[in-house]
Amino acid sequence: MNLTWVNVKAFIPRLPLSPVSDRYTFGMPVNTSPPITQSVIPITDLRRGDGLPIPKMRETSGGTSVQDQRGRQLRDLRISVTDRCNFRCTYCMPKEVFDNNYRYLPHSEVLSFEEITRVARIAVTQGVTKIRLTGGEPLMRRGIEDLVAMLAAIPGIDLTLTTNGSALKAKAGALKAAGLNRLTVSLDSLDDKVFRAMNDVDFPVAKVLAAIDAANAAGFEQIKINMVVKRGVNDHQIIDMAKFFKPAPGTLGNIVRFIEFMDVGSTNGWQMGDVVPSQEVVNRIHAALPCEPANPNHVGEVAKRWKYLDGAGEFGVISSVTAAFCGTCTRARLSTDGFLYTCLFAQHGYDLKSLLRRGEDDTLIAKAIGGIWQARQDNYSEVRTAETARQRKIEMSFIGG
Ligand code: SF4
Repeated sequence: MNLTWVNVKAFIPRLPLSPVSDRYTFGMPVNTSPPITQSVIPITDLRRGDGLPIPKMRETSGGTSVQDQRGRQLRDLRISVTDRCNFRCTYCMPKEVFDNNYRYLPHSEVLSFEEITRVARIAVTQGVTKIRLTGGEPLMRRGIEDLVAMLAAIPGIDLTLTTNGSALKAKAGALKAAGLNRLTVSLDSLDDKVFRAMNDVDFPVAKVLAAIDAANAAGFEQIKINMVVKRGVNDHQIIDMAKFFKPAPGTLGNIVRFIEFMDVGSTNGWQMGDVVPSQEVVNRIHAALPCEPANPNHVGEVAKRWKYLDGAGEFGVISSVTAAFCGTCTRARLSTDGFLYTCLFAQHGYDLKSLLRRGEDDTLIAKAIGGIWQARQDNYSEVRTAETARQRKIEMSFIGG
């Protein structure tokens, strides 16, 4: 994929509104300059009604997971259990947009635990084996432990959760007891000043580090630590993060993953110039801590693994911008209000909530999920251009990373 980024960046003007649905893009002009600072249009008006028509499912030879147009199987379901978050990470929920005027989903629009569990149980019949709970910030959803227990009762699934860690210290034990298998914690810097600036709510890094320790103590091993790298903001922290999370020889340790800054949603002011390509991240780390590529744990693994030559530990890089991995993407996303999306960079979704609430049976809903996946062709990261980067896309805080 050859994208002449240098000259693209210079050509990113403010463009007139393109004729796509303004679901969840706040009806604002979309461009990649700094976050939009205009006041937000009341969101509920924009959220009703424009799900895509659900494709008819072609019968499959029973028992196998459905495959999309590129032969990718449905394996992972990411479930956004809330559109709320107590952080305002500048690359995800910029404060200028998600301000005091921002109206979250009314409770009536949010899927209940029973509805989430039902969709998950049905999705398992279509091949899902891994469920990741996301948000917004999933630990802000009251009774999240109860939802974890309901989902953990579904046979054959690997249940994980991604959190900003702010409430993890208090909840780690209960999540483990409820049946959560694995954890991912977002941590963009060890430098307290940089961390507070990136979460933009002045939340101290020490509390997240203490929460990670508490989660390890509660029995969560090899916690994934996700760092979104933005040039000129926190890239000077790459080596510190690698060294901090590098385990002592013979111990497991937690695993830091360096994520390329992505043009998710339509509000984070994404520019290619702010992206630190993963190859550069690896080169920097290798210069300080010699490393080599490691084999993937499974097909479709998002992070590319690198292990240290001294045998103590590993790290990962997630390279949606410079090394697309759409070819093995097995992920679907369920939004907080029950729409199914087949790509992180989607513009439209499919309304499963209406099927649930008008009393459709499991078979019909299973066929809906199957039909949606079978029709899937998504490969956004393979076709990303300066033009697509300006498309209005669903906000990541709404469908989970
Ligand atoms: S861009 Fe879309 S299709 Fe490609 S890896 Fe990401 S979620 Fe999957």
